[in-house]
Amino acid sequence: MRRARHSRILATLGPASSTPERIRELFEAGADVFRLNFSHGSQEDHAARYQAIRDLEKETGRSIGILMDLQGPKLRIGKIEGGKVTLQAGQKFRLDLNPMQGDATRANLPHPEIFAALEKGTDLLLDDGKLRLRVDSFSAEHADTTVMVGGPLSDRKGVNVPGVVLPISPLTEKDLDDLRFGLDLGVDWVALSFVQRPEDIREARAIIGNQAWIMAKLEKPQALDYLDEIIDLCDGVMVARGDLGVEVPPQRVPVIQRQIVRAARAAGRPVVIATQMLESMISSPVPTRAEASDVATAIYSGADAVMLSAESASGQFPLEAVSFMNSIISEIEADPNWRTVIEANHSTAEATTPDAICCALRRVANILEPATTVAYTTTGFSALRASRERPVAPILALTPQIQTARRLSIAWGVHPVAGEHVHDVTQMVEHATHVATRHGFAKGGDTIVIIAGVPFGTSGSTNLLHVATIPQT
Ligand code: PGA
Ligand code: MN
Repeated sequence: MRRARHSRILATLGPASSTPERIRELFEAGADVFRLNFSHGSQEDHAARYQAIRDLEKETGRSIGILMDLQGPKLRIGKIEGGKVTLQAGQKFRLDLNPMQGDATRANLPHPEIFAALEKGTDLLLDDGKLRLRVDSFSAEHADTTVMVGGPLSDRKGVNVPGVVLPISPLTEKDLDDLRFGLDLGVDWVALSFVQRPEDIREARAIIGNQAWIMAKLEKPQALDYLDEIIDLCDGVMVARGDLGVEVPPQRVPVIQRQIVRAARAAGRPVVIATQMLESMISSPVPTRAEASDVATAIYSGADAVMLSAESASGQFPLEAVSFMNSIISEIEADPNWRTVIEANHSTAEATTPDAICCALRRVANILEPATTVAYTTTGFSALRASRERPVAPILALTPQIQTARRLSIAWGVHPVAGEHVHDVTQMVEHATHVATRHGFAKGGDTIVIIAGVPFGTSGSTNLLHVATIPQT
């Protein structure tokens, strides 16, 4: 089954989208990759979703990516007496390590590392930034603050400390447990929340190894100081606009989004734009004009994928959300100006043989307008370098490894197909012809452009470009 569009859709599964039938509908409506969000739901819930996706994959014959998203060190206050208080602007409020239930004067904040990192005047944001407290004085065990922006505060609300690097690992005890569980299941991608430093990626890589690809969620402004290094160390990035937009003012979000997309595209790492893309569709069957425009902006910028969170996980219209996303992307990609914009921003090839071949692939595709290009890839590296060029024709990525195919399902323009090893050029052309025809990418008389590495099966060895014509049947 082929998709006509190049940009990909990542849909989060949740209570609104967990039956095998619903997952199939989301897939048919356009979801390319499914996200299991370990901030919500039990491991059993995720295992059932995992199995439904793998069953669907077997049935459709199209590789489907599964991304597990770890909750990470989401900081929270403790419980409040009666569940809720209302803080007034101007009043004093204390946060401390005392585990007693909170009230109108104080609340528990069970994170000593926050108190250790405070300064007088630091702002603490509560409940997605809705409330703002300014630190007047503090010790290792408490902070006395003035409420700058008040409002209702209820149990276990999240706390953000913008601009402060906290000495905490991005992997909590819960994350380590979830991670072991997810890797045992066989997830293709692991997303790390609240990445702050390059060390965070190294720490995760030491555990994950090559069992999955790692996606860094960029939602802490501190991470941007090390953007290139973080991108280099991970396999993909997410512009996690939800928490990012709490840590920085909303008007900074589009600027940072562009900066991240540009850097990730230059490095050839898949980049996902996430959160609030079709937010109103949580409770409405149609998106707002502004939301359609937001998705369009992501697509014109050349992002690999756009993501749905609550829209597909817990909203009232999960299917409509995926379907609209699919329609918006298709509409934008049909605009001749979209192609012009993508071409204008294409990344310069590095001085390596694989990049030279991929650059040639893009140019040959421009000239010959083949029905499809075909990239032989073992680890996925060559397919990602080809995708980085954003060629005009689709990239059929043929790999002997099912895991590579699944991982590649998030990449721009890539249609991954797992299959057999090929051993020589004749076999390569026959196999490419067969798969391209079977998957609806080409028919008799069409031109296809193939890249591969000889000797076959060696990763990163791409050194061959071959133009073939599909025989008439
Ligand atoms: P979350 O991450 O949904 O796990 O918080 C995405 C974001 O913060 O935008
Ligand atoms: Mn987040």
